[in-house]
Amino acid sequence: MNFKYAMPTKIYFDEDAVLKNKEVFKNLGSKALIVTGRSSAKKNGSYNDVAKALSEVGIEHILFDEVEENPSLETIEKGSNVGKANNVDFVIGIGGGSPMDASKAIAIFIKNPKINIDNIFSQKQLESIPVAAVPTTSGTGSEVTQYSIVTSNKEKTKKNLGQFVFPTAAFLDSKYTFDLPYNITVNTAIDAFTHLVEGYLNSNSTYMSDIYGEKGLELFNFCFKKLIKKELDTEFRNKVMLASSLGGIQIAQTGTSLPHGMGYPLTYFKGLPHGLANGVLTIEYLKCFKDTTKLEKMLKALGLSNLEELETILKQLVNVDIQITDEEILEYSKSFVSNKNKLKNHPEEVTLEDIIRIYTKSLKK
Ligand code: NAP
Ligand code: ZN
Repeated sequence: MNFKYAMPTKIYFDEDAVLKNKEVFKNLGSKALIVTGRSSAKKNGSYNDVAKALSEVGIEHILFDEVEENPSLETIEKGSNVGKANNVDFVIGIGGGSPMDASKAIAIFIKNPKINIDNIFSQKQLESIPVAAVPTTSGTGSEVTQYSIVTSNKEKTKKNLGQFVFPTAAFLDSKYTFDLPYNITVNTAIDAFTHLVEGYLNSNSTYMSDIYGEKGLELFNFCFKKLIKKELDTEFRNKVMLASSLGGIQIAQTGTSLPHGMGYPLTYFKGLPHGLANGVLTIEYLKCFKDTTKLEKMLKALGLSNLEELETILKQLVNVDIQITDEEILEYSKSFVSNKNKLKNHPEEVTLEDIIRIYTKSLKK
């Protein structure tokens, strides 16, 4: 056995985690840029808690609340200009994956004044100012990953920024998710689930990453039942938040795999929410495994006996109705297979025909 393992983010998982651990902010800097989406952070109490915690430890903050879903590089540049103009020395991302990912990119732009939208993708590893994260969805695991997924309108795609920014601290308090609408709860939970699956069935999986994967999959046995019954109680909210972070810790080691790479054009061109874009492709992706040994272990961790049982569950939760032509499928598939980096995380050889088949069987009923 051999593996490398590092997870530098300190996790505070508790009710009132932000206020109980306010001293942590003092280690990050003296003036914060808080990065949020347009409205949810103010409604669910997360922004108030962070502002109160900062004020109680004597730290000033500036708010940038303009991050859209699937954050664009333009918004990231705008946020970083606000941070630079106000001489902030750390960033706090509050929200779903979009504001958390944007906060990591903004922290890179602030630390490196010569970086801009046009040259960011040609850079080697850059340093950032410190980042803290407060998730208000249970899905992306961005609070414990180094990834920042951004929308490049120039390249007409979503892509990883290519930098490594692990938040220094992540504050997990599921109360911020209590009023998350059912549809966003499902879409984001499916994202967390696909991280656990793709991280587990991954060329880069290790003994350590599998520990997180199996624990997260076990939690999904409970979470799927609650999602189907629409019983979104506190126990569910806590467990799905934990499963999401376990998935994040796992994919920080392994990366994701085929559904994530194939899902990006479905989000960019068809507007499908990120979790659903991956979720709709999952069953056909799983069916393409020739060696099913690890797949069977994954189903066992989920408490299921076969793939058909998982298919039945996902059919109840993943409802996608988009129009897509054979030409579009061919275009997305060709673009996907041309990126060898995306294919190498899948442990078996895949051809253009395999990718076309996954898209077609998943999307054209
Ligand atoms: P999101 O795009 O951050 O947010 C989706 C919607 O949910 C927004 O309208 C947001 O409103 C709302 N919302 C957030 N928290 C809420 C709450 N507690 N109550 C009510 N509404 C709430 O969604 P997401 O699925 O969490 O993040 C998706 C992004 O993360 C994608 O760009 C994806 O590519 C990326 N991602 C990153 C990683 C990673 O490792 N870094 C992994 C997977 C996915 P507001 O706009 O008002 O806040
Ligand atoms: Zn994802």
